[in-house]
Amino acid sequence: MDIYLLIGAPGAGKGVQSAHLIEKYDLTHLSTGDIFRHEIKEETELGLEVKRIVQSGQLVSDDLTNRIVAGVLDQHRQNGTKGLILDGYPRTLTQVHALEDYLAKYDLSISKVILLNVSDEEAVRRASGRIICSNCKKSYHRVFNQPNDGKCGECGGSDFFQRPDDKEENVRDRLTLYHQQNTPVIDFYRQHAGFFEINGELPASVVSSEIDKNIL
Ligand SMILES: [Zn+2]
Repeated sequence: MDIYLLIGAPGAGKGVQSAHLIEKYDLTHLSTGDIFRHEIKEETELGLEVKRIVQSGQLVSDDLTNRIVAGVLDQHRQNGTKGLILDGYPRTLTQVHALEDYLAKYDLSISKVILLNVSDEEAVRRASGRIICSNCKKSYHRVFNQPNDGKCGECGGSDFFQRPDDKEENVRDRLTLYHQQNTPVIDFYRQHAGFFEINGELPASVVSSEIDKNIL
């Protein structure tokens, strides 16, 4: 099973590049956010624990995150998944060590580490512009992807909202947390033979072809 790490700040373009990797290399995308939401929805024991923590406004601990991710990795190993993109994991050095231990145990290793770099100003401009159709939840962008004539192309709705997470002050808080947590993770993986860094401010198609050059 090939493992790719995708690292980047909110607004770095991880969503778009994940979609590219999934399509081109037949990979499966795993983000901790999606995993947590899934566990909560399925009301697993760990999911209920996550729900309690999130509702009390706290961060999910490394230990709990590691256990949940290990469970998901187990499933993918057993199902013969071809390859995985890990997005948002590992986020701390403790998580790095847990992941590396897990991989070593099953004789797996990380193929590539992709770092998408954007300046904080660009990250804020991108992340805080996101709006969502109130009716069908399709996402648009105030600058890069405006709804035509103010109407949703999917359902024709004309009411859009911004997720609380995407408000500028919250994006700035998320960026601060991203830098605090990820700097040691990035420093760790800089030594990895498969590490490469791409300017995420380039147009998405250019970023995709840079990724391709480094993967092939
Ligand atoms: Zn819509």
